Amino acid sequence: MDFQTLVKILRAGRVPDFHPDADSFAYADALDAQDGLSHLREQFIIPTRTSLKKRALDGTVPDAPSPRPRTNGSTKSSHPDKKYGDDDNDPSIYLIGNSLGAQPRAVRAHVDAQLETWASLGVNGHFTALENSPLGASWQDLAEECGRKFVPIVGAASASEVVVMNTLTLNLHLMMASFYRPTEKRHKILLEWRPFPSDWYAIQSQIAWHGLDPATSMVEIQPDADQYLATAAILAAIDEHADSTALLLLPGIQYYTGQLLDMARITAHAKARGVPVVGWDLAHAAGNVELRLHEWGVDFAVWCTYKYLNAGPGAIAGAFVHERHHGRDEPQDEDGEAKGSSSVWGAGQFRHRLAGWYGADKSVRFDMAKTFVPTPGAPGYQLSNPSAIDLAALSAALSVFGQTSMAALRDKALLLTAYAEHLLGKSLPLPSSSGNGDAAVRPAFRIITPANPAERGSQLSLLLLRPGLLDRVSRYLVENGVVFDARKPDVIRVAPVPMYCSFVDVWRFADVFRRAIAVSSA
Ligand SMILES: *Cc1c(COP(=O)(O)O)cnc(C)c1O
Repeated sequence: MDFQTLVKILRAGRVPDFHPDADSFAYADALDAQDGLSHLREQFIIPTRTSLKKRALDGTVPDAPSPRPRTNGSTKSSHPDKKYGDDDNDPSIYLIGNSLGAQPRAVRAHVDAQLETWASLGVNGHFTALENSPLGASWQDLAEECGRKFVPIVGAASASEVVVMNTLTLNLHLMMASFYRPTEKRHKILLEWRPFPSDWYAIQSQIAWHGLDPATSMVEIQPDADQYLATAAILAAIDEHADSTALLLLPGIQYYTGQLLDMARITAHAKARGVPVVGWDLAHAAGNVELRLHEWGVDFAVWCTYKYLNAGPGAIAGAFVHERHHGRDEPQDEDGEAKGSSSVWGAGQFRHRLAGWYGADKSVRFDMAKTFVPTPGAPGYQLSNPSAIDLAALSAALSVFGQTSMAALRDKALLLTAYAEHLLGKSLPLPSSSGNGDAAVRPAFRIITPANPAERGSQLSLLLLRPGLLDRVSRYLVENGVVFDARKPDVIRVAPVPMYCSFVDVWRFADVFRRAIAVSSA
């Protein structure tokens, strides 16, 4: 089966039967040869084993030309990869784009352009775009320009549904300040059992900020015994709390297990049950899976840009506000109070929010008036003049997304992840440490990410099943050039990101991992 046939099966939500030779290096190499996105890897700088050990600046960046040894179609040769990946200056096996994406080469050009603009134009750079600059906009317009590039990535109806500003947690607070409006009867926030700590703190503190008790206003939706959040369980929780819920707030992809939630179905169900606001944290979903936020009727969403979007550590983040909230404030809550129609801003001209001067419409922003007139839509939630350096890095990262589509990235991600799962499955069951020849020994690990391709993105979470294995396996992986995430006490998360990871990377990882388990279990 070729690349496209495999993708078609995965798109249908089924797991393909890989060819018997699929665990050979040559097979991985052949998939790379059919990969229409393989050229994108060249646009990234992947750390090498040598560069990862760097402890002082030396004016260099790793620039290995990623050698791709061809095997001329032969599937016979034993480990034809001997050279590949063994050199300390080869790219590492970078499987941690779910935590920090690799650096796009374009970032340097965009940041340099920014520095030259600032040095040359000074304050005038706010309103002047240099003709041949990759930035393509003045500092004033750069956030909006980046917002436009997000439209296809998050599935917005237009750029007015997207804003680029601040950081994820701050945006979550700003969105909750506007959208979480508890009343005596309707005060709960429905969330999952193990949200990322920052989301937990944000939710908890918002509830307390309103003078409410997190013990009664925070409702956690529980997973099954396998840490799996069944859609049915989520829908049942919505049904149970529909009349008292002010906000349903869930992750598009659960960061720990890598489970992709059915955002369309859950949003529709909550809306049908009268839940007034549905918000999504897309930290692990944006730039990873296909999103249709407008079509799904999502009220708001937030995301960071340093994971699958590759804009660099702590880079400027994004938020989505559905068109239906762009106009007048909604009429009152059931207690009859028109919460947004404060006398400060006039009666219900726009949705209540915490405001700042950059949310003001550009036409009046510099009038320094006391009346706040927001830019229509999501950009009206901005507070401050955004960092142009930060926007330059994001604009570089988005320029790579502009060369492909989320559909093409998703196609490759489906296959890369399925291939990783297939190869890892080959290392089960493992020989027992007792060496008593018992073939049916208990496995050393289990994948807790759903096996259904439609229920995961690029990440696989491997749960190690023997105490103490995490440290030993981690050490072996690090020594062998794998960059990954270890979550105590026993989970290893790996994300073969389609933009810069290859099938050979996945093959090499599985090979190293198998040895890591064997060595660590001995
Ligand atoms: C990565 C991540 C964050 C990080 O928040 P920042 O404000 O960007 O530091 C928050 N929530 C989730 C779910 C994440 O995955």
